[in-house]
Amino acid sequence: MIATTDSTKDKLFSTESPRISREEALNLLNGSMPTLDLIREAYKIRQEFFGNKVRIHILENVKNGHCAEDCGYCAQRKNSNSGVQEYPMKTDEEIFQEALEAKRNGAYRFCMVSSGRGPTEKSIHNLTQTISRIRNELGMKVCLSAGILDEQKAKVLKEAGLDRYNHNLNTSEAHYGDICTTHTFMDRVKTIEAMNNVGVGLCSGVIVGMGESLSDLVDIAFKVKELKIISIPVNFFIPILGHAIKNPNPLTPELCLRILSVFRFVNPDSEVRVAAGREGHLRSMQAMSLYPANSLFASGYLNVKGSDIQQTVEMIRDLGMEPEFDGEIEYSEPATGGYKEESISEMYKYKKNIEN
Ligand code: SF4
Repeated sequence: MIATTDSTKDKLFSTESPRISREEALNLLNGSMPTLDLIREAYKIRQEFFGNKVRIHILENVKNGHCAEDCGYCAQRKNSNSGVQEYPMKTDEEIFQEALEAKRNGAYRFCMVSSGRGPTEKSIHNLTQTISRIRNELGMKVCLSAGILDEQKAKVLKEAGLDRYNHNLNTSEAHYGDICTTHTFMDRVKTIEAMNNVGVGLCSGVIVGMGESLSDLVDIAFKVKELKIISIPVNFFIPILGHAIKNPNPLTPELCLRILSVFRFVNPDSEVRVAAGREGHLRSMQAMSLYPANSLFASGYLNVKGSDIQQTVEMIRDLGMEPEFDGEIEYSEPATGGYKEESISEMYKYKKNIEN
């Protein structure tokens, strides 16, 4: 058990990176320090590298469904009965027009997400055309999530102008076979290494709550550190209709906060994102997640609804933090100290009823 006096905290949180050992990470997940103390320590590190800024991300799908893989958490996997709308890869012109619209809204980065195991030679060819066009004609940075690929394909995408690739590890190597049988953890690691080798920055994280142990979570926190991941989404499993995760773990808001803090201690200078599932799993504690984390998603998660921009920006401002977004934020300040006009008139109706 780790004591909680200030002197032992100083010893626990090293100034080196990672700031805790594997053993300490596991102890912290097991509740060895009161949650508020833990979050305060994580917040100190988050402030050191990111101040009080919160980066907002929005996902854009360019291909939905049509996937032969069986990732148990995904609404687009083969034989899924989730009923998501399927569509093949959008055309170069359709994607370009979406990028143009994003640019008109002030975005400097365009993020494309495509379903499937990985891009074929033909789709790599199409993607390179689209990436070059967006880079050259719009001057925007391009981020892509397109599954498993090798170094040759990574090189071609890099040469076309790709500057960020998303490829989540999702769970630990030991647990991977329980969530997917059509590809392996090492397939994922090799894709990340291929992108690292050609110099494309990586976004890769975890989905918590798919039946893994706390020690699996420690393994992933250290694996993303080892793989030099610069942006780490920490997702919390959303039990979508027809999912194939055998034993989802019950998560508490407190455990979610501990997990985010441990990812921060192990990866002090990486972007740690409180990602999909924050609404359902953190519930009334959602705002607290932005003490260890410094970014989040708004407007949903590919096939699942989430908080909109207005609610997200309100939460960030309520914390006294500063939202950062690549485009324009459609947000209106809450009137009258946060009470909307209609809720004020509802209050008076309620009071009148009491008086009668
Ligand atoms: S996560 Fe990607 S590869 Fe896995 S089933 Fe979903 S779309 Fe297919």
